Amino acid sequence: MIIPNPSTTKPSAGSFALNRECVIGVMDDGNAEARVGEYLHGLFAQSPFEIPLDITHFAGDAPNRSIRLLKKPSDHADIGEQHELAVTTDGITISAHNDAGLTRGIQSLYQLALQQVGLIDSTSIKEIRIPAIQVTDKPRFGWRGMHLDVSRHFFPVNDIKRYLDLLALFKFNVFHWHLTDDQGWRVQIDAFAKLTEIGAKRADNKPSGSGFYTKKDIREVIEYAKLRHIEVIPEIDLPGHTQAVLAAYPELSCTGGPFDVSQTSGIHKDVLCVGNEDTFKFVTGMLDEIAELFESQYIHLGGDECPTDRWKECKKCQKRMADEKLKDETGLQGYFTTRMVQHLEKLNRVGVFWDEVLELGLPAGNVLMSWRGMDHGINAAKQGHRVVMSPHSHCYFDFKHSKDPSDHGATWADPISLKEVYDFEPIPAILDAKAAKNVLGGQANVWTERMPDFATVESMILPRMCALSEVLWSDAKDRNWPDFRKRLAALTPWLEKNHNVHKCIHGD
Ligand SMILES: [Zn+2]
Repeated sequence: MIIPNPSTTKPSAGSFALNRECVIGVMDDGNAEARVGEYLHGLFAQSPFEIPLDITHFAGDAPNRSIRLLKKPSDHADIGEQHELAVTTDGITISAHNDAGLTRGIQSLYQLALQQVGLIDSTSIKEIRIPAIQVTDKPRFGWRGMHLDVSRHFFPVNDIKRYLDLLALFKFNVFHWHLTDDQGWRVQIDAFAKLTEIGAKRADNKPSGSGFYTKKDIREVIEYAKLRHIEVIPEIDLPGHTQAVLAAYPELSCTGGPFDVSQTSGIHKDVLCVGNEDTFKFVTGMLDEIAELFESQYIHLGGDECPTDRWKECKKCQKRMADEKLKDETGLQGYFTTRMVQHLEKLNRVGVFWDEVLELGLPAGNVLMSWRGMDHGINAAKQGHRVVMSPHSHCYFDFKHSKDPSDHGATWADPISLKEVYDFEPIPAILDAKAAKNVLGGQANVWTERMPDFATVESMILPRMCALSEVLWSDAKDRNWPDFRKRLAALTPWLEKNHNVHKCIHGD
């Protein structure tokens, strides 16, 4: 009864009583596994459990009544997150070739425990019965992402940790952190202090309108994610969606400003001036600090929704176009993108871009995120680019769940039901096998214009992220809607007790 559905599941008779007499057994061959053991310890030491399990190192036979974490040798370099989970009446063994695999196995075990918890009316559970089961599992895609916009509304570190816990529970492995937009700049940059002094504050004083993460905060989140084997990919949206930058540094605009950190949503016409060489000094200096802070090989540089109105009227931008022999203003954004990618290469990083950038000429080796439907992703994959599918037809969790007029969510597109998310297929039939290999996976995007607090975020992502997890993890042939509903029902009591969940979890 696990979400996402494992490759194989064989239930058997009986159950294992997990209580304080049990121990976590880790092989005595290094520190990394002990860290996985600490993660497991933390899960059962925290509410609603009160089962703090000791960690024991062992060399030969596993200790009695243990949850054994067993790392198997492997000849394969890229064995991914493959793992096995065996629960018998005597003990539990999680085996994998690496820490990521062990962690995914732990997450399955934790889910089995939470299903039981939902049925128990207590906040301090000292024993939980895990049904006997044999699970072998591995993911379909290597990019299973959830995005979160922290510009339109700001969420403190504790909320981000709760978000990461949900990602971990459903085996997502990418957290795409949308850190900047017209409505607020949310990350400390030492060389450009006004980005947060001015760019992180909105004048309207509405809840969650202002705030930013210090570098210490960011490192804390990255460490938290790392323990869960989730990669944190920062997004700095450029050269559009930058009014918060221009509020801090109006000299980087075409007109000189002044500007406010935006209090309205939509596409803003004031963007970075590409004719001004200081813009490049700013962007490269800022990216140097982002690259120093974040460990991911990827840095998302946006590239979406950049109007060219100001560039058309700006002498500097027009001079740049003439000097560089650019045909039109679209070419100017292409020029900007090329220079950004050249800088990322110096930083040894790979760029990720929204799909508008395909039309500008996506530089080879970078990743395209297809959001305006699937076609841009399909075209990019055919051209040999790596692609992440996040079409707003299936993956925009800011849209309503249903047509019910009382339903919360964005109104500019049709609702996306749980079933529609479940039916999402990241590899369309039109792609041949070679092009299909370029699809790294998919992700949901969570734009927060209408989500002023984390409770609202939860009600928008739950239970749709559960359906998406299965799309991205499980084999397409194993997808089974009635079976998914049954497994979701098993987890529903716990989800509802601990999170804000949309009512569609009970069926349409
Ligand atoms: Zn300009």
